[in-house]
This record gives sequence, structure tokens and C-alpha cells, in this order.
Amino acid sequence: MIPKSFVQDLLNRIDIVDVIERYVPLKKAGTNFVACCPFHNEKSPSFTVSQTKQFYHCFGCGAHGTAIGFVMEHAGMGFVDAVEELARSISIEVPREANSPAQQKVAPDLYDLMHAATRYYREQLKQSPRAIDYLKQRGLSGEVAARFGIGYAPDAWQNLEAVTPNYKDASLVATGKVIEGEGDKRYDRSRDRIMFPIVNVRGQVIGFGGRILDKGEPKYLNSPETTLFEKGHELYGLFQAQKTIRAKQCVIVVEGYMDVVALAQHGVEYAVATLGTATTPYHVQKLLRLSDQVVFCFDGDRAGQKAAWRALENALPQLVDGKRIGFLFLPEEHDPDTYIREFGREAFEELVEDSLPLSGYLLRELTSQVDLHTPEGRNALLQKAQPLLVAISAPATALLLRKEVAALAGVTQAELEALYEIKPVAAPQRRAPQKAARPAPSGLRALLRCLLLKPDLARQLPLDWSSEAEEGAAILELAQWVRVQESEVSAAATIQNFQGTKFESTFAAVQAETLKLGETFDVAAEFEGVLSMLRVDERKQQLLTLQRKIEQAELKGLSEQERTLYLQLLQRG
Ligand SMILES: [Zn+2]
Repeated sequence: MIPKSFVQDLLNRIDIVDVIERYVPLKKAGTNFVACCPFHNEKSPSFTVSQTKQFYHCFGCGAHGTAIGFVMEHAGMGFVDAVEELARSISIEVPREANSPAQQKVAPDLYDLMHAATRYYREQLKQSPRAIDYLKQRGLSGEVAARFGIGYAPDAWQNLEAVTPNYKDASLVATGKVIEGEGDKRYDRSRDRIMFPIVNVRGQVIGFGGRILDKGEPKYLNSPETTLFEKGHELYGLFQAQKTIRAKQCVIVVEGYMDVVALAQHGVEYAVATLGTATTPYHVQKLLRLSDQVVFCFDGDRAGQKAAWRALENALPQLVDGKRIGFLFLPEEHDPDTYIREFGREAFEELVEDSLPLSGYLLRELTSQVDLHTPEGRNALLQKAQPLLVAISAPATALLLRKEVAALAGVTQAELEALYEIKPVAAPQRRAPQKAARPAPSGLRALLRCLLLKPDLARQLPLDWSSEAEEGAAILELAQWVRVQESEVSAAATIQNFQGTKFESTFAAVQAETLKLGETFDVAAEFEGVLSMLRVDERKQQLLTLQRKIEQAELKGLSEQERTLYLQLLQRG
């Protein structure tokens, strides 16, 4: 666990403008900075970054957050990774609360070494007609090869002597680039191979995939797991593809680097590959954060079928209602590389479009294994479906699949839930009929604006503060949180704290309004003014309520005739 106080401290020490500028060029506009939004397609900039308030807001798509939120969204990182990345950028150490495994420190010179190796392989490719020929045969242009940093490791034992002053240095073994043999002999892991740099979302080379040029085994050779490279976490091509993935809101997951590169060569620039492992839950989570649709594309052979099922199993706990996961099975003799070379982009994208939805694939597989005409078969279905259904936490998806499986097995949803001993997914509660949308009391809105500009003002609110309006509830929650903070609270810390709560969108909307206030805006004065106005309003409201009560008491004393007359007069106004 990262201590909350550290997160606040970090937000105080970094500058959101520096952070965002690493990814998106910003232009100064008044007191703020603007850019075309990296999260939606637009021609004129509505993405606004406030340096004084340390948050960003897009007036086009509503994207909103702090520097941490930006790194998470933009690079598809988790919270912990984003915090670490930002801490590293200003060279401070992330403290850990007890119980967390000690983080392994990565010496920065390992990255340098990988970078030097990449440059070296690129150079070698230019000098090897044989390697160039091979890539040409596979239909790759120089442009795409450059985009992916593809290179060539010559057929020699100690190529990497060229990139390091000391081939004996332990760091070479640590990167997995060099193997230590018997009697202290050292040699390169990759020889006579086409080299595909594996790049993390920050653009750093963390490993290599190597493909043999001619015949020979193994056909593909990956870097081993190192402190830089964790297979279950990384996806080949994500760095290059992330922009297109975000724009298209679709990502294709394939099995090999050549598939990613070949698809990109044909204009399908939103594919990534797992690296010699099955798709992990981590992969799925990462991709669902970037995109509304994830399509797994598998070869048509038996291995592909098996890999697809593994991907499904690992995807279930990560499902998010409203996002789509699809499965695409290519004809048996094809992989994405051969398919797109033979049939072209349009045909391939049609397949992606028609991919089988996860629920369809799950039900198809389950029912194909059993005979639903017999009680034994239906029983087997229930047994097989149990671990799968139990793994789903997305409520709507869970509900629908339980209903489907129950129906196929001839039981009710309640019976199925009892059998599995799982909590029923409640039928969605019917919402109370929406009251005619009451315009937000502008006083409360103004008060919330002040509090979000200067959260510490909340300490001055009366303790018995209460209100029914949405803004009122948000103010109450904010005040309670601010009161228990020991040090001064910034706007960014507030955003970070309420991320993922029901107040997030209210805060985002009001914070967006604060961007339009001039620098001369006097928060403290406005706060005082609004507060006293609200107190006057409150007194008026109390008075009105009392008057109404008196009226009603008197009404009771009226005769039937007088009452009718009174009501008629009231209606006429
Ligand atoms: Zn936007």
C-alpha cells in the first residue's frame, strides 16, 4: 500500500504541466494551458490544464483528473505504477506501508544498456542484405521496421561487446542479453536473429523477441524475465498502438510480434501481442482501461482454441459492464500475418467486427461439451459453468449469464444461485420516478466552487451543515474529509481522494467551472458572501415552513364551503 499522505505530497511536488507535456504538447492560453484532447478526437482544443489548480479538464469529453489520473489514463497504467512513474520522474522514493513486498530497484543503466543494444541491432540490420531480404519477403516496409525498432543480431557469439565498455559486467546478465556459461564463459543470447524490441508504455526497451532467420530452433526466442521485463505485464506493440487504440476504442490481441507488425503494415495499427504467455488478468485489465472493445484473435488450430479459452477464463474477473470482449478465430491454416497478407485489411477488419462476443463463446463452448437432453447433461453444464459464473463480478453481465445458464439447465436463477452458494445478483432496482429536475440551488453550487478552489475553507463550515441537494451532500462529504486532514488540502488532492466515489462527477463538473474564473477571483470573500446568503435562505425556508403549518392548522378550522373557496382562490393564484 502507498500511504495516502505520500500521494498528497507527490501531487504537491510535481507539476501537472510538466507531466502532461511529456505526452501532449501544451499551449498557453490565459492562465491555463490547452491542447487537442488526447482522449477524444477533436480539431480545436478543449483539453485544459490548470497549473495553479493542478488538474486537467476536457470540455469536450469530460476527461478530468490530476497528474496521477492523467498518467493512468494516458498510459493505461494502474494507480501504483502511475505513482511510481511520477515519483521516479522527480527522483523520490515511494514509501510502502507494511506488508508489501520490497520493490526491486531498477538501476537506470539497465535501460541505457537496452537502448544501446537496440541501436546496435538497427545498425546491423542496415548492413545485412540477408536480414533485409527476409523482412522484404515478409512484406515489411522500412518505415514499419523503423516504427517498431526492428533490428538484426549477427551470427556471432559476442555481438554486444560493441555496445558496452565491459562485456564482463554483471548488468549484461541482469538484462538477460548475455548468458553465463561454464567456466565463466559468456555469450550473447541472440545470434542470427531478427530482433524485435519489447517496449514498455513509457517507451523504454525492456526486452527483445528474436526470430530465427532460416530454419532452426527455437523459432522465437524471448528475453527471460528480468527486473525490467515481466511477461505477464507487458504487451508487445502497446507503446506504438496506444494512440490509435484510444481513438478507435478497439484493440486486437494477437499471439506474435510478426502478427502485430504485419497488421500495422496493412494499416491495422491497434493490435498488440502477448509475449509467449497466455493472456493474463493484468493484460485484460490494462486493455479494458484503454479501450471499450478488446478482441482476442487466435489462430484456427487447436493451440489457438486452447489459448482462447485461457484468455476467456482470465478475462471473466476483469469484465466491465458496457465494454465488449470479442473472440475471433481465423481459418485453420492462418494466423493474422498470413491472413491479412492474403485477404487484405478490409477482410480482416470485417472479421474483427463480426467477432464472437464473450458470452456467446462461453455458452457455445459449455453447451458443446454436454447433452442438454438428459438430466445428467444439464447437471454437467451446471458443474462446468460454476467456476466461470462465480468469477464474474460485473453485475449486469453476471446476471445475464446466470439467467442463460439457468435456463439451459432448466432451473431458475434463484435455484442456480442457491446451488452455487453465491449472492443473488439483485434485479436492478427500479429507480424512484425522477423528480422534476430541480435546478441546482445556485448558492450551494457557488459554495462548492469555493471549496474546490480552496478546500481548507471547509473547516469553517458549521458542523450541523446539511442539505438534500446533490451539491449539499458533496459539500458535507468534502467537509468531513477535509476536517480530518492534518495539513493543508489542495484541489488536486481532493480530486484524487474522491476518484471513483459517487461525488466524482459533481466535483469534476464544478471544478471545470472554476477554470473559467479569473485569477483575481477572491475565493475567501466569495465564500463569506455565499455562506451568509445561504444562511438568509435557510431562515426564509424555515419561516415558510412554519407559515405553511400555521395555514394548515387554520385550514382545519374552516367549513367545507370555505375550504373549497380557499382552494379555488389558491389555484387562480
Ligand atoms: Zn476530451
